[in-house]
Amino acid sequence: MQTIKITASISPEWQRANAKAAAQYRAGVRGECLDDRHYRIPSATEPRAYVVRVDSVSRLEAHCECVAGQHGKVCHHASMALSLAAERIRQYARPASEQPALARVSPEAFAARFAA
Ligand SMILES: [Zn+2]
Repeated sequence: MQTIKITASISPEWQRANAKAAAQYRAGVRGECLDDRHYRIPSATEPRAYVVRVDSVSRLEAHCECVAGQHGKVCHHASMALSLAAERIRQYARPASEQPALARVSPEAFAARFAA
């Protein structure tokens, strides 16, 4: 199985974004994959969603169209999109015969890798 090495340093901003993404996930919020690079993540406060462009999972490079993202800040939308992107990479790395048995990667599990 392919593992994804996070090479970026995890700032307090990322830790906060990961915690919020995990809380949103626990509350039932789910992002949607649009294509290889783009993910639609629901807003936590408004009845809308934001599109996140993921450039690099390992370097935590993602750009969100929300207000925070437009100002270059880390947001939980980006965190959630990165966890979805990481899951997609894992799926591609699997032999086709194993794909139906795939477990989902929660944002919490994704964030836990940062601590290792
Ligand atoms: Zn955002």
